[in-house]
Amino acid sequence: MAAETKTTTTHGFVVSGKKRSGADDRDGADVIMAKKSMLPTAIAAAAAWEDPAAALASARHEFGEHGGVNMSIEASATFTVMEPETMRRMFAGELGPDRDFFIYSRHFNPTVLNLSRQMAALEGTEAAYCTASGMSAISSVLLQLCSSGGHVVASRTLYGGTHALLTHFFPRACNITTTFVDISNHEMVRDAIVQGKTKVLYFESMSNPTLTVADIPELSRIAYDNGVTVVVDNTFAPMVLSPARLGADVVLHSISKFISGGADIIAGAVCGPASLVNSMMDLHQGALMLLGPTMNAKVAFELSERLPHLGIRMKEHSNRAMTYATKMKKLGFQVIYPGLEEHPQHDLLKSMANKDYGFGGLLCLDMETEEKANRLMNYLQNFTQFGFMAVSLGYYETLMSCSGSSTSSEMNPEEKALAGISPGLVRMSVGYIGTIEQKWGQFEKALSRMPDSGLFKN
Ligand SMILES: *Cc1c(COP(=O)(O)O)cnc(C)c1O
Repeated sequence: MAAETKTTTTHGFVVSGKKRSGADDRDGADVIMAKKSMLPTAIAAAAAWEDPAAALASARHEFGEHGGVNMSIEASATFTVMEPETMRRMFAGELGPDRDFFIYSRHFNPTVLNLSRQMAALEGTEAAYCTASGMSAISSVLLQLCSSGGHVVASRTLYGGTHALLTHFFPRACNITTTFVDISNHEMVRDAIVQGKTKVLYFESMSNPTLTVADIPELSRIAYDNGVTVVVDNTFAPMVLSPARLGADVVLHSISKFISGGADIIAGAVCGPASLVNSMMDLHQGALMLLGPTMNAKVAFELSERLPHLGIRMKEHSNRAMTYATKMKKLGFQVIYPGLEEHPQHDLLKSMANKDYGFGGLLCLDMETEEKANRLMNYLQNFTQFGFMAVSLGYYETLMSCSGSSTSSEMNPEEKALAGISPGLVRMSVGYIGTIEQKWGQFEKALSRMPDSGLFKN
């Protein structure tokens, strides 16, 4: 067990052995490293890709300083060296986190790096690094890949914050412009790419809130042919979809949602090639290093405890969403759920999805008007405890929001119409608390309160 050999006593202090052995500092000289330190790659993930859960289980397990089954939290902002020369070599990039040399926690931190290794394993990418929020992962990676004058081709159905970033913030702050397209129209995507100017094709694997599923292999092929980097936000479908395995270059997450599962933490991740992650940590040009959306090590530790049961949670989110979608449809509701056969990308999702994780934990009910949507949500929360009126997703309780007036309110009416967001669209992130019978009973009881809706038979 690595933990037993890692602790040693130097100068009377108990310290982590590998870095402090002194000899290691010196014999590193004959290991000629590239200018930037290389991150350890998710070798195990590449070996067994049947299932993201298998890849996660094969990722390196970090033990605690005293042999604890959980890793220790490295809460330090700064790190000491035994010899002054080591500092110079760390700053020159000759000694890095792959050999347990750390400089400062806005740069790599061991605990955040451990969670990042798990994220890389989950997504089957060479490397990953975690950030303070999903938005900072998105903005940092786009700023790393695009320079002033750069161009992005993006889906027109995006998370509201991302849409605002691309529409308003980037053009004003750094002259990065975006053309929005219908990503299911591949001709339109191809036509929007400007040779030499377009750097990124950006879309969500399963889009918010309309649950449109992207054809990741085909879109990646189009981008590859044009030298464009594919960046996919996989927040809605962790475990269900593995975009990097389907051709995407970079996979982003808002960890605040399913991966956290507790609705108590804001966090994000960039998963991609080691060269990208290292460039983002570059002391002179790195967006993570210089903009500093740093994840706290204590937060990283908490999240690393939740990743092992993400697969189990996703299966149950999907199972219940499928059950409710089927039952709601039977009652005569207009339901959007990729697990239903009539969903336009049902077969596409089936062809891309990892086995046994279902079709995701989100469904949408189109209530047509905001008034009807609000009335239903009010009954569901305040009379029957079916769920909560709240934005966000991935919680164990069901969360409901009217997308047009909440998470997509940054969009103007035309943009919403183009993205297929009707004013009465209720997005539900289906939770797994309670029994299905109990929760469905609560849904039916709420319906019986609104007999004028004309949407159901009883
Ligand atoms: C929530 C969300 C984000 C933003 O993530 P934060 O962690 O809230 O910063 C980005 N993309 C999608 C699809 C989201 O749902």
